[in-house]
Amino acid sequence: MSTPRPDVLIAGAGPTGLVLALWLARAGVRPRVIDKAPDPGLASRAMAVQARTLEFYRQLGIADGAVADGMLMSGARFWDGGRLAALVPLGEIGAGISPFPLVLSYPQDDHERFLLERLREAGVAVEWNTELVGLRQTADRVHARLRAGGTETESDHAYLCGCDGSHSAVRHALGVGFPGAKYDSKFYVADVAGEGWSPGPFVNVSLGRDTFCLGFPVRRPGMVRLLGILPAELADRTDLTYDDVRPIPERLLGLRTTDVNWFSTYHVHHRVAERFRVGRVFLSGDAGHVHSPAGGQGMNTGIGDAVNLAWKLAAVLQGRSAPAVLDSYEAERIRFARTLVASTDRAFGFLVGRGLRGWLIRRVVMPRVLPLAVKVPAVRRAMFGLLSQTRIEYRPGPLSVGGAGRVRAGDRLPWLGEPDNFAPLTSRDWQVHVYGDVGTALREVAARAGVSVERFAWSAGCRRAGFARDAIYLVRPDGHVGFAGRQNTMAGLETYLARWAIRGANSVTEPAPSGVGAARRAERSDP
Ligand SMILES: Cc1cc2nc3c(=O)[nH]c(=O)nc-3n(C[C@H](O)[C@H](O)[C@H](O)COP(=O)(O)OP(=O)(O)OC[C@H]3O[C@@H](n4cnc5c(N)ncnc54)[C@H](O)[C@@H]3O)c2cc1C
Repeated sequence: MSTPRPDVLIAGAGPTGLVLALWLARAGVRPRVIDKAPDPGLASRAMAVQARTLEFYRQLGIADGAVADGMLMSGARFWDGGRLAALVPLGEIGAGISPFPLVLSYPQDDHERFLLERLREAGVAVEWNTELVGLRQTADRVHARLRAGGTETESDHAYLCGCDGSHSAVRHALGVGFPGAKYDSKFYVADVAGEGWSPGPFVNVSLGRDTFCLGFPVRRPGMVRLLGILPAELADRTDLTYDDVRPIPERLLGLRTTDVNWFSTYHVHHRVAERFRVGRVFLSGDAGHVHSPAGGQGMNTGIGDAVNLAWKLAAVLQGRSAPAVLDSYEAERIRFARTLVASTDRAFGFLVGRGLRGWLIRRVVMPRVLPLAVKVPAVRRAMFGLLSQTRIEYRPGPLSVGGAGRVRAGDRLPWLGEPDNFAPLTSRDWQVHVYGDVGTALREVAARAGVSVERFAWSAGCRRAGFARDAIYLVRPDGHVGFAGRQNTMAGLETYLARWAIRGANSVTEPAPSGVGAARRAERSDP
């Protein structure tokens, strides 16, 4: 008996492709995953794993493993010419907003290996040394041309996801533009061991005119990840080693380097692809957007793309949502990517900019005003919301209808804390949340669609979180609210469920396509 071809081909096994593959596999859709590199490699770029990413990992039952492998950061230290100028303890800055109130420092290479292992456990192995070199589409298939071991083959699938990084061959093959520009500054990144200096559980920041240097803790004792901008006189050299750069981080952060694990230099661009979908082909992660690494958002945004796309692909392939659900992927994610690239561009300009404004930000605002400002709860909440990606919303998106209390459709479901209203999200399935009482009519409508109803007793905490008492919140598999409204009429909810042909995993109306029912049952029993 021949093995059925996977419905989804994922080109690129960076963090975006790996999370997409893992979410799909856990949903019972086994993808084919290829990567042109010979192995996962050691080039470690992203350090910051934000709360929203950990919330998704919790839905997959893998958050605890990631947190145990990484290091939670408890604040920022500002350095001025090698002297500690200010310590900004952030404590649990996101307490009450997310079950993960801190940023996790987790080197990207370790993180990718962790994801690869989880993927292997889910029964999917990445095919290394396999490059996508072209593609063509017909009405119902996409045909990818792959090169492996000097031989070209064609591989056809229902969908193709280009998670193949900023030079994306998929994006090129689609002819999708990547407008934006390159920053003048050139960056360096290094993994070093330091003496007489510990990064501690802190982001270490040193800002100077036309330069900055960040030092992140790595779990291996004594190791620090450095990220900085090369001075103009070194920027054009192609033969740089760490020794050429060494005096800069040593002077800025006051550390003494004893060993160098890895060193690299690179240019950074700020660009967003013109489209994230063409027919049966999608772009995710760096293939769709790139920007300055300051702010630690790039990888987290790619993982957010992956989750947004994965549940939609799985639902459509399993006949549990209308194919039009896939149109919402571009609408939701391209808007966020454009906002993010514009804001990181502005922030980066402030950090390295010349003139009085740049000087004020580096010398006054960051080391002196910020430590005082973060003591104000509203400032802490705003900072956490911005960086942690917990404030991402899809309000104008096609899948968002209605609102109740302060929660609008498209918002990430607010987290209550106690009781833990994120616990049911581990089903990664549509579900209705009610904070208060559930009427019979609602139970009947939800049961017909196979959607579970999760009831939480009304409390002052529910009001503080923005919920309206007894209202209906139909929550998507990724934890965003799809529909919100009052229980006095079911018409809105029924129209929404019918419009998108939503059938939850509890649906018993028709047998699912081959293998899917079993996969869904397995999924519901995993952690
Ligand atoms: C120095 C630095 C620091 C950073 N720090 C942070 C941070 O703290 N937090 C954060 O969120 N982000 C950070 N980023 C950004 C982050 O590293 C990227 O956003 C992230 O790697 C994107 O993941 P990806 O999977 O989309 O793409 P990539 O990681 O680029 O992976 C793409 C994969 O596709 C493969 N591939 C390419 N072409 C093909 C092809 N034709 N066929 C098959 N396979 C192909 C490649 O081999 C690669 O494995 C940083 C970036 C840099 C450079």
